[in-house]
Amino acid sequence: MKKTALVTGGARGIGRAISKVLAEDGWTVAVNYLNSEEAALSLSREINCLLVKADVSDENQVSAMFKRIKSEIGSIDLLVNNAGISSYGLFTDITPEEWRKMFSVNVDGVFYCCRQAVPDMIRKKHGCIINISSMWGQVGASCESAYSASKAAVIGLTKALAKELGPSGIRVNCISPGCISTDMLGCFSQSELDALIDNTPLGTLGSPEDIAEMVCFLASEKCRFVTGQVIGANGGFVI
Ligand code: NAD
Repeated sequence: MKKTALVTGGARGIGRAISKVLAEDGWTVAVNYLNSEEAALSLSREINCLLVKADVSDENQVSAMFKRIKSEIGSIDLLVNNAGISSYGLFTDITPEEWRKMFSVNVDGVFYCCRQAVPDMIRKKHGCIINISSMWGQVGASCESAYSASKAAVIGLTKALAKELGPSGIRVNCISPGCISTDMLGCFSQSELDALIDNTPLGTLGSPEDIAEMVCFLASEKCRFVTGQVIGANGGFVI
């Protein structure tokens, strides 16, 4: 079976680990990146992949990205919507522009990529979409209201799409990571990180590979009967 995947935000952090694990599992991977050009180039020296620069919050750039992927490696069988941004601060300090920015990347980006990927998947009667949400999308985080709301939207979209696309042979699932050691946690001090670890029953931060292995499993035929699910990979933080 042909295995062609697109990983958004795939040059750094969790996305980079996903790209690597999928490539090791035999997938032909298109790696989307925005500003992380150096990281993208270094990844392309480690795995055989197609690098595609695009801002997922820009509909035209997403459309151009899919055209390029289709002409170079064919239509995709697996879409991993991983690109995302976060912010930390009081709800009363969030400006409408900051709110819109959060939703434009974390929600509109997922919409634009699904909108491009789904028609070919319907035609082929086969496909898999994996959205990277967050445990905060399930339970909410104080001082991360815009982020939590955007990630909750991703969970709602996952469930609705799973119902709508299941009859076309397309599975749509969501992974809700807990605290994963990447640049995204860079805004936290060591004592704040220690507090997050204290609240994690398994007593550690997760690694990008923990999420990547889950993506690979969900994308595999082993999960052919799994759709519409929110898989927590959070060390027990949210149960
Ligand atoms: P990261 O900041 O290292 O990676 C985010 C990636 O998204 C980067 O490669 C970045 O360039 C890309 N990106 C951001 N805006 C983009 C845009 N407009 N267009 C294209 N790419 C864009 O952080 P990460 O921890 O690897 O995050 C990956 C995903 O995992 C995100 O969706 C994040 O919300 C989610 N997540 C992370 C954690 C964590 O603790 N690290 C926890 C839960 C969920």
